[in-house]
Amino acid sequence: MIFAETIGIGDELLSGLTLNTNSVFIAQELEALGIMTRWQTTVGDDLDDIRDALDRALSRADVVTLTGGLGPTHDDMTKKALCNYFHVDLKFYPEILEKIKKRFERRGYKLPKINENQAEYPANAELLHNSAGSAQGMAFQVGEKVVYSMPGVPREMRAIMLEEIIPRLKDRTSTRVLRVRVHTTGVPESRLYESIHHIFRDKPDLKVAYLPKHTGVTIRLSLFAEDAKAGRSELDATVNQLRQLLPKAIYGVNEDTLPAVVGELLRQLNAKVTTAESCTGGLIANMLTDVSGSSDYFEAGYVTYANRVKHGVLDVPLEVLESEGAVSEATVKAMLSGALSISGADYAVAVSGIAGPTGGTEDKPVGMVYIGVGRKDDFTVKRFQFGQDRVMNKEMTAMAALNLLRLKLLADATQ
Ligand code: ATP
Repeated sequence: MIFAETIGIGDELLSGLTLNTNSVFIAQELEALGIMTRWQTTVGDDLDDIRDALDRALSRADVVTLTGGLGPTHDDMTKKALCNYFHVDLKFYPEILEKIKKRFERRGYKLPKINENQAEYPANAELLHNSAGSAQGMAFQVGEKVVYSMPGVPREMRAIMLEEIIPRLKDRTSTRVLRVRVHTTGVPESRLYESIHHIFRDKPDLKVAYLPKHTGVTIRLSLFAEDAKAGRSELDATVNQLRQLLPKAIYGVNEDTLPAVVGELLRQLNAKVTTAESCTGGLIANMLTDVSGSSDYFEAGYVTYANRVKHGVLDVPLEVLESEGAVSEATVKAMLSGALSISGADYAVAVSGIAGPTGGTEDKPVGMVYIGVGRKDDFTVKRFQFGQDRVMNKEMTAMAALNLLRLKLLADATQ
């Protein structure tokens, strides 16, 4: 395995005023070549700090990149640190000075005196052409290791990376990184971890990242593989193992979305769906119809917020609304049955809950939601307790409702 370290140079990176996007770009490009960035260092415009960072990086990484600190306004800190580290002087390149002069003249300027040092580089540097600016990139061979130094301006760094550095690094390793993202919903990160971490114990090459959001956790698997085909089948086998351990939580991989997965199941069953929503305000219908081609299976969505409309449109009995309340299992069942009968769809989803932050009671606190799914005479209604944030509650409700529908459709498809 080849390891890289990126070193970002600049006081403005340390202060947080500039986001270190260069390191992100470099790490992604290196990773595509099978080179793993193990360390990302940031230092200020300080000669000793740059030198120390370079020294440490070369003691542990095979490929080291430096960005920034090259311009005249930074007193050429990086070049000085490189000269100091390699015990060399700056070498003047008259042909580069001519090129820079011409570059300025083309834009109608005379070359400012402070830019003249852009024609000077450490004597042992191999210069890397910069098609986007006047500061050249530099390469230094240190035994088997290599150091690349680039300007901080992201456009110039990218030009040198893509045109000069990547072609040089391309064949250094046959290792490639293979990735798969496994999407789950409804199970918190710690419980997911408990259920699955044992399968990764004997797979040291497989890196696992848990990426939690309120609507679900994505499990990202990364495999550094010498043989792409064998690696791909190892990843596929791992995803199958995960699916067996978490059949309810996992709804898809990579670009899959829950509404699209639900849509595909509806299509397979040749079935239509309708939604009856209260607290989600139409979000479930919106998510379902975000999928292109959803007119094949989406029949109608009813947003029935007021009790009067729940009764008037969906025929929820007034006595149910009065005795059980709008947020109740009985109301959701009646919403399912009303939506099915007026839309003529095969499946329905219905939700009613307290989105908050106001409107909660002791019996029915903020975040309590009833979610129902089903087809004619076969309804499942479940009670959920989400949090205090209104928008998050709506989004969690919509995801939970679509996942319940997915499980129902799956059960029907495999019957
Ligand atoms: P210059 O010739 O402009 O002095 P330089 O190589 O010394 O170039 P800096 O002065 O450090 O680079 O940065 C130039 C510009 O690039 C600034 O706008 C800075 O915010 C941006 N920049 C520098 N480093 C990074 C980084 N790591 N990620 C994103 N932007 C950066």
